[in-house]
Formats: sequence, C-alpha cells, structure tokens
Amino acid sequence: MLVLVLNAGSSSLKYSVRRFDPAQPFTGGVRIAKGIVEQIGAGEVADHLQAFDIVSGELAEVLGGRTVDAVGHRVVHGGERFTGPALIDNEIIRAIEQLNELAPLHNPPGVQCLRAATRAWPKVAQVAVFDTSFHRTLPEPVWRYALPDELYRRYGIRRYGFHGTSVDYVGRRAADLLGVPWEKFDGVIAHLGNGASVTAVNHGRSVDTSMGFTPLEGLVMGTRSGDVDPGVLVFLLRKGYDAEELDSLLNRDSGFKALAGHNDMRVITEAAAAGNEEAELALETAAHRLARYIGGYHVACTGAQAVVLTGGIGENSAPFRARLLAKLGPLGISLDAAANEDATGAEEGLRISTPDSAIPVLVIPTDEERAIAEATLALVGTP
Ligand code: ADP
Repeated sequence: MLVLVLNAGSSSLKYSVRRFDPAQPFTGGVRIAKGIVEQIGAGEVADHLQAFDIVSGELAEVLGGRTVDAVGHRVVHGGERFTGPALIDNEIIRAIEQLNELAPLHNPPGVQCLRAATRAWPKVAQVAVFDTSFHRTLPEPVWRYALPDELYRRYGIRRYGFHGTSVDYVGRRAADLLGVPWEKFDGVIAHLGNGASVTAVNHGRSVDTSMGFTPLEGLVMGTRSGDVDPGVLVFLLRKGYDAEELDSLLNRDSGFKALAGHNDMRVITEAAAAGNEEAELALETAAHRLARYIGGYHVACTGAQAVVLTGGIGENSAPFRARLLAKLGPLGISLDAAANEDATGAEEGLRISTPDSAIPVLVIPTDEERAIAEATLALVGTP
C-alpha cells in the first residue's frame, strides 16, 4: 500500500510517500519519495493551490501511473471537536475550515490542500491528523485560562496545545527504550524546532503543555516570543499597534530572531562560542525558560521517568542540550558529555545523561510524517 502524507505549513508544502506491507502496517513502511515546495506566497509560487499542483505533478512522475491508496494530511488545529484522526468528507472539511480563525497562519493552507487533494483524487481515502488531538486529555484546570467563561463559550478561548503527533511518537519510543509500557510512562517531552513546546505526559497521556490557545505560548522559539505578559500587548495597543502588527511582532519578529538577530541554532551557538554577547543572552534566555518548564512539568507528570528531547534543535544541537542540562542539576540530572556529542544525528534514540543521573535524558528523532502515515493507515484499514 502507498500512503501519501501532505504537510502544509504557513509557507511550505512537504510531501512524502511511504510503502507499507499490509501484513505489517505499523512498522513505519519504507519512504519511497519526498519533496518540499518552499517560500509559498513570497516567491514564484503564489499560494498552496499552486504548490499542490507542483506536488501532484512530481508525484505523477515518481509514481508513474500508480495511485496512492490513502492520503494523510497534517492539520494544525483540531479545536475541541477533533480528538483523533478524522476520515475526510465535505462536512469534515467545513468543520476544519471553521477552525481557521483559531490558527490563521497554519490552518487555511491545510484546508486548501485538503480541498485540492479530494478534488484531485476523489476515490482515495483521505485522513486529517491534528497537532492538537494528543492534548485532548489535558485536565480542565490545565486547559482553562483564568478569564471569564464567556470568552471560552463564545470564542473557544482555552489552551489546546500543539506538536501532539510528534510528542506521541517520540514518547512511545522513549517508553520502549526504557522498557516501560506507554500506558505507564510518565515523562517530559520537549519538541524543539522552529516552533518549540514541552509536554508533561502522565501514563501516556498529555497532562500539561506549553503551547496554548495558539502555538505562540510558552518557550522562546525561532521567531515567536513564547510567554510574554499580556499587559505588554495592551500597552502596545495603546501606543497605536494594530492586530496585524502585533501578530507579526509576536510570530515573526520575536524569539531567537529578536534576541540574536538569527533563528538558526547553528549560527547562534557558533556566534556565542565566538564571544557574541547577544547570541549568548538568547541561548541563556531560551535555556532558562525551558529548564523552568521542565522543572514544573516534572511535578505535573508526577515524577518524570525520562526527559526527552526532539525536533531540529533537540536532535542536532549538542551545545544547546549541554547548556540546558547544566541547568537541570537540581533535578538530579547530569550530562554525559561524550554521549551528548554522539547523539547528534543518531537514527535511534540515545541517552545523553550519565548512568547515575536521577532522571535519564533521551534524544529521540521525531518522524511526524511516519506517524501521520501510520495514523492514516490505522483509520483507513488495510485490504
Ligand atoms: P520545524 O519546526 O520548522 O520543523 P525543525 O524541527 O527542522 O523545524 O528545527 C529547526 C531548527 O533546528 C532550527 O533552529 C535549526 O537551526 C535547528 N537545527 C537543524 N539542524 C541543526 C544542527 N545540525 N545543529 C544545530 N541546530 C540545528
């Protein structure tokens, strides 16, 4: 069976095709093609519809007349309705479209690709897999903001959480590595990419997570601020900023980009090593906040059996991992410096803490596309 995964980001469209053996559908299959269309809206490709046409053209070449058996779509926001993957039909697409307002940067491209793909391949089963749905188990005291209930009832203002597909995937692998059943796994999982969040998992369920109503809350990210006092926004509104300006300030011009002038972790760590003070400050700000969240989530998950790092930074930046672990000493965590160097780019998960560390720290590469393909197959079934 061939499963296509489409991952529409705010300015990119990634795809991959995996071949599964129907007798062993949950071994991840084998990836036979992948590609990406970037700079959508900023370069030659005007929008995601045009990007979709490019992708379907490439697929036609790669597949040479064969058609895929199922399509899995990554959708960022599933609101309260989508607590798991959903088989696509027109009603479901409309329901996802109604959530666009909650994720104006991320959901509309996903919806465009859903429509285009169902039009292009009307007979192929298609599934939406949501970044939010792993966090459906957040307890109410965690998902509530201390705001009037009216705002929740009217606008759905509450915490949702994101990166769920990745957290679920690496969490299960961490539990495997520790020899603990997923249903008994308690841990803290940090997905550190351009967007970054950390999640507390108790008994294989999300019980707290740093992103909230939107993917803006929480950690210092590539170009997003993470936590700021909401009073800052009120202050800036009074200074004449409008909604668009605030949106772009917080989503595009903040985070590492604001602090270090750059959002590439390699550039920032090299600059800091060469004595650049801004880069040093940016790294300390980000590591401090992440360490503080990890400490809190150790409590929230009732005592972590592991701290797990993943995403582009978590998987590849040994200097950032070392800086972070240096701050986790009070949890009894200690870094194995040699293992930390080895873990970079490792295919399988690796431990970067010393054997006597009170909590093991694991680096586990995520694979959202594989997770989406497996979720798609699980829903569509195998012939
Ligand atoms: P996205 O959230 O867009 O999927 P990724 O998970 O790919 O992003 O993570 C992007 C981040 O990972 C960037 O900050 C980038 O600098 C960092 N990164 C990628 N490769 C390396 C590397 N070899 N060393 C340090 N940082 C890296």
